[in-house]
Amino acid sequence: MALTRIGLAGLAVMGQNLALNIAEKGFPISVYNRTTSKVDETVQRAKLEGNLPLYGFHDPASFVNSIQKPRVVIMLVKAGAPVDQTIATLAAHLEQGDCIVDGGNEWYENTERREKAMEERGLLYLGMGVSGGEEGARHGPSMMPGGSLEAYQYIEDILLKVSAQVPDSGPCVTYIGKGGSGNFVKMVHNGIEYGDMQLIAEAYDVLKSVGKLTNGELQQVFAEWNKGELLSFLVEITADIFSIKDDQGEGYLVDKVLDKVAAPTIEASLDSRFLSGLKDERVAASKIFQGDYSSGETVDKAQLIEDVRKALYASKICSYAQGMNIIKAKSVEKGWGLNLGELARIWKGGCIIRASFLDRIKKAYDRNGELANLLIDPEFAQEIMDRQAAWRRVVCLAINNGVSTPGMSASLAYFDSYRRERLPANLVQAQRDYFGAHTYERVDMPGSFHTEWYKIA
Ligand code: NAP
Repeated sequence: MALTRIGLAGLAVMGQNLALNIAEKGFPISVYNRTTSKVDETVQRAKLEGNLPLYGFHDPASFVNSIQKPRVVIMLVKAGAPVDQTIATLAAHLEQGDCIVDGGNEWYENTERREKAMEERGLLYLGMGVSGGEEGARHGPSMMPGGSLEAYQYIEDILLKVSAQVPDSGPCVTYIGKGGSGNFVKMVHNGIEYGDMQLIAEAYDVLKSVGKLTNGELQQVFAEWNKGELLSFLVEITADIFSIKDDQGEGYLVDKVLDKVAAPTIEASLDSRFLSGLKDERVAASKIFQGDYSSGETVDKAQLIEDVRKALYASKICSYAQGMNIIKAKSVEKGWGLNLGELARIWKGGCIIRASFLDRIKKAYDRNGELANLLIDPEFAQEIMDRQAAWRRVVCLAINNGVSTPGMSASLAYFDSYRRERLPANLVQAQRDYFGAHTYERVDMPGSFHTEWYKIA
């Protein structure tokens, strides 16, 4: 057997599918997994899916030695200790100039620690976020590689071919930046993804609980929305979900799905996941707080649908603005020099948050690379202004009817805080200085001040 171009260790859902994708794009690949049955399974799939150039190994030494030098091994194992263990297994056989790529959802500081340790041994290291789940890994994910630029350049030809391809925007991969930037960007991307799902779920809740829309109507509404500014993978699959009948009983499957999410705008979506996990407690509380939460307001269905569409879009702008600014703040702190518009471009395909909306974000950063916040881009600012009345109506209606919309409300609060010249943080700072002598700054003169408030009071 001739030497292969690249190796991949860790053959669960992501690794197996990415390895097949790489082989299918014409790059001979060696594969390895701690539990060897997965190696055989992957080799079998490669045969069945078109005799792809994929070669399985049961021991790490022959796996590493089957790869051409300088060797590159992508790891796709559970984040944390398994990554350290896999590195130890592989590094024992790797040589100076070889490269390890961690394709998992790793905490970015772990990647930075490992990159340093590898550098001391003459090995290159990349932390590469991979988005798109099983389907993306197999047919084209969005990839966020960060760390050694030299390592990236060595495998760029492979990444450009295996990543999702978007007409007019190109392959969904780019060198993100130094250190753990690839993992950091992927982490925020996942936060944005949760935010998107939460906002869509709230739109559904308002339309169903207040507007009394049936599943058939919901399917039509989301399908219609998917033709306009909300066009996205998540809105598309949401429409599909409302059309699926329960094959084990009467009615629609969505109504039979337990409203409990196993694990966790971004903080609100996380809080919602935690709260949804407390199913038993919520059932008990619903008995204590029984009553009619309907406000009795007459609701014009068509108006409500239009308002909710606008509220969803405006909330989405705020959610992405927050995500982009988290990335920007970390980039400034770490000196990564990240290109936010490029991030929007590589999220346009392959990943769960893919949406036409990302094109608009890219254009906003193209117009002004130093944009302080997406909200103040002239186009987004106008869109927010055009939608804010509807947005406020939806949040008020939800509150009046006892329907929680934490994502939409958090987005609206973010907007309302961001647009105000003066916030009540002056009082918080005065309190902190009162009880803890934390000092404060003044609006009318420079310097740091402390007042013995209690003596004056
Ligand atoms: P996973 O369930 O996270 O991990 C399973 C893999 O890790 C198996 O290959 C397993 O080997 C290996 N592993 C676990 N402990 C190990 C240890 N101590 N030493 C060596 N290997 C060990 O797999 P996954 O879902 O494919 O995800 C892989 C990575 O991609 C994770 O970081 C995940 O967060 C990220 N990711 C997943 C998805 C997704 O949709 N699943 C999407 C994007 C990113 P054995 O077979 O020997 O147990």
